[in-house]
Amino acid sequence: MHEHNAAVYPGSYDPLTNGHIDIIERGLKIFGKIVVAVLKNPAKTYLFDLDERQEMLRSVFGGEKRIEVDHFEGLLVDYLKRRKIATVVRGLRAISDFEIEFQMALMNRKIEPRIETIFFVPSESYSFLSSKLVKEIYMLGGEVGSMVPGIVDAKLKEKFRRR
Ligand code: ADP
Repeated sequence: MHEHNAAVYPGSYDPLTNGHIDIIERGLKIFGKIVVAVLKNPAKTYLFDLDERQEMLRSVFGGEKRIEVDHFEGLLVDYLKRRKIATVVRGLRAISDFEIEFQMALMNRKIEPRIETIFFVPSESYSFLSSKLVKEIYMLGGEVGSMVPGIVDAKLKEKFRRR
């Protein structure tokens, strides 16, 4: 382990929202590099497949040298070992995130004690925002233009038009 100054920000990103972007930007104030690691969990059904989720991230962050988009399957700790990175970034929205994030951070530490999890608190305006909510609003015909980047908005429109 130990690419100092780099952190992994793991998640589903189904799809990327402005809340994720807020966390990544805060992360870049502290870390030299953020690896946005898209999770592929075979037990989960996603609206966007792995390639689509990565593609949206790449088109938003393509020009930024300090952001890398990658993916992983299986245990996060194994991915961290492979990448030689010991720091995990996560976002904490409301109290609702706390319990599960606390549990995950401690479980990861139990498996690999060198791992530290750092939490960032998003701007208030994103503290209600989740990928799940964005999808629900979209499915019900609402507008999410202020909650996701333009490319994600366009992808959502495309996806639901085809359904
Ligand atoms: P997961 O399926 O692992 O929750 P997400 O992509 O939904 O994946 O979230 C990844 C991380 O980003 C989590 O730590 C989550 O709490 C955080 N996050 C998601 N949306 C927001 C938001 N609006 N503000 C702050 N953090 C967020």
